[in-house]
Amino acid sequence: MREMEEKILTEGKVLPGGILKVGNFLNQQIDSVFLREIGEEIAKLYAGSRVTKILTIESSGIAIAAAAGMIMKVPVVFAKKHRTSNVDGEVYATSVHSFTHGNDYQAVVSRDYLTRGDRVLLVDDFLANGNALRGLIDLVRQADAELAGAAVAIEKCFQQGGDELREKGIRVESLAMIESMSDGVIKFRR
Ligand code: 5GP
Repeated sequence: MREMEEKILTEGKVLPGGILKVGNFLNQQIDSVFLREIGEEIAKLYAGSRVTKILTIESSGIAIAAAAGMIMKVPVVFAKKHRTSNVDGEVYATSVHSFTHGNDYQAVVSRDYLTRGDRVLLVDDFLANGNALRGLIDLVRQADAELAGAAVAIEKCFQQGGDELREKGIRVESLAMIESMSDGVIKFRR
């Protein structure tokens, strides 16, 4: 998606440690006009994929997931992040390593909202090492639901998550694919 690349180039900031800051349009302030375009793009990519539900993880995936859900007319579920592993039997839970915070947390979703028969599209803002998506895939598996694929706004291809998931046969669509951002220079994979 050319517009996503342009937004990254004009408004993104490369931070040390391979982090891209997009607080200006996605992660803190949200460009709502652009958000709709993101939703439309994801809906277009997964048109005809019989998606019944979108699953994301709080908090930064929610806006994008909701935008896609509105266009696709399907419910949006977000997994909640819990610090402890004390969870009751009413939920599916999985452990995820956070790339940005360096710690582990539990991603938890109520059994009421993810069920057998659902065909699930995973949505998130970033794909780096793939831990967040792998956690969501585990939740889908626990619910005995079907996985339609994943859509992320920005994939950092210099980390391995996207390639590893594709090698497993999982459909992963990224609206912008960053090949490298050494010395603050962002290069895209096209
Ligand atoms: P992964 O689990 O694939 O290693 O990392 C993806 C998660 O970490 C996303 O949910 C996202 O919130 C966060 N993340 C990873 N890399 C970046 C980054 O460069 N910038 C921002 N803002 N978040 C990131």
